[in-house]
Amino acid sequence: MGIGTGGGFGLSAGQRLQLVQRLAKRRLTETFSPDDPRDFSTLPALRDFGLMREAMQSLDIPSPFNIPHEARAGARSRIAGREVINFSSYDYLGLNGDPRIAAAAHAAIDHYGVSASASRIVSGERPVHAALESALAAHHGTGAALAFVSGHATNVTVIGHLMGPRDVILHDAAIHNSCLEGIRLSGARRVPFAHNDWAAAEAALAEARRGAERALVLIEGHYSMDGDVPDLARFVALARRHDAWLMVDEAHALGVLGATGRGLAEAQGVDPTEVDIWMGTLSKTLASCGGYIAASAGLVDWLRHTAPGYVYSVGIAPALAAAAVASLAVLRAEPERVARLNRNAARFLALLRERGFDTGGSAGHAIVPVLTRSSIRAGRLSAALAEAGVNVQPIIFPAVPEQAARLRFFLSATHTAEDLHAAADALVAADSGQRRAG
Ligand code: PMP
Repeated sequence: MGIGTGGGFGLSAGQRLQLVQRLAKRRLTETFSPDDPRDFSTLPALRDFGLMREAMQSLDIPSPFNIPHEARAGARSRIAGREVINFSSYDYLGLNGDPRIAAAAHAAIDHYGVSASASRIVSGERPVHAALESALAAHHGTGAALAFVSGHATNVTVIGHLMGPRDVILHDAAIHNSCLEGIRLSGARRVPFAHNDWAAAEAALAEARRGAERALVLIEGHYSMDGDVPDLARFVALARRHDAWLMVDEAHALGVLGATGRGLAEAQGVDPTEVDIWMGTLSKTLASCGGYIAASAGLVDWLRHTAPGYVYSVGIAPALAAAAVASLAVLRAEPERVARLNRNAARFLALLRERGFDTGGSAGHAIVPVLTRSSIRAGRLSAALAEAGVNVQPIIFPAVPEQAARLRFFLSATHTAEDLHAAADALVAADSGQRRAG
């Protein structure tokens, strides 16, 4: 019987809360012994997720997942017929729906149709693909770039293809799931190091490098959960010292870091060619969908002809490529958007800190977490904020360990000062309402 059925076992709300919190801390270790091996409900990840879903239901917290937005989601959105201040979309520079970008996408559809209709290597190539890749290479200051249909798929296929069972991959403990999936596919030895701890990374690399044919160090330019950044020069140096490649995932750094939004290298004054592989997505600042690698012409040429997720997958839709090209042009022409985003994030971070919230290591560029350290609390705060017209996603177990549960705010250049104050005050009200409810 689930926690949510049978009247909560006759427990009070407080007792139920304690029970679900204990359950959420538990690692599920049951071995696979279903009566029916074809029963999907016995799949392990589903059981973990089901546990939290039942916990939420038993406490009358509405599910925060898959909620439809009924409008263009930017600094504002519309949910269940109601306008909300939105902090759950990565429209960092407010470009999603910008008429120039929408017009570029429309023109591409009119000219090429909606689909590329084939893998690029066999008839799916359109001129807009090359235009996108040369703009991305210019943006990163690299010899070349290659676009894929998804950011997640880019990491999976590139890491999975580049590395093999005789190799080692060092990665930041907070690295994105797409990198972990790529590592798994590669069969390489996986060595995590403590978040942003370059000294620990170097010690682990020195030890792991000896037995390995090739080595790759994987970090993010701006961490998606915490909103903090690594010390790039340190990682470049340690990768060089130990003859390893360095790959930086700039999903949340493009258009966010550096005076003109060129990312971590620009922000920290590092020559971008010191990084062997820049990875990024088109789905955030660039208001499109897809992923890319920006790197030397040699690596890009090899990927273009051999990476399975490129060769055996359809070309990125022409409209999405055109939208990303147009977004890069707006970013180049209007760098003040990057400054506005950073000002908004720094201001919001300060507002939350002044109000006593734990914002972890956020550097205040675009991502501001509020650590609740309880999935239930994150779910309740998010629900109370939704009632108050503020949309912010709770990040809960099992997506993160229970101790890392949080609300995560994505800022946009188009949030107003009033939006930020309203959200900070709504969070205070939601928090004190929850404390009163025990
Ligand atoms: N890398 C990071 C760091 C991400 O946060 C994400 C997704 N948010 C991805 C890669 C995958 O990108 P996409 O959503 O565009 O597939």
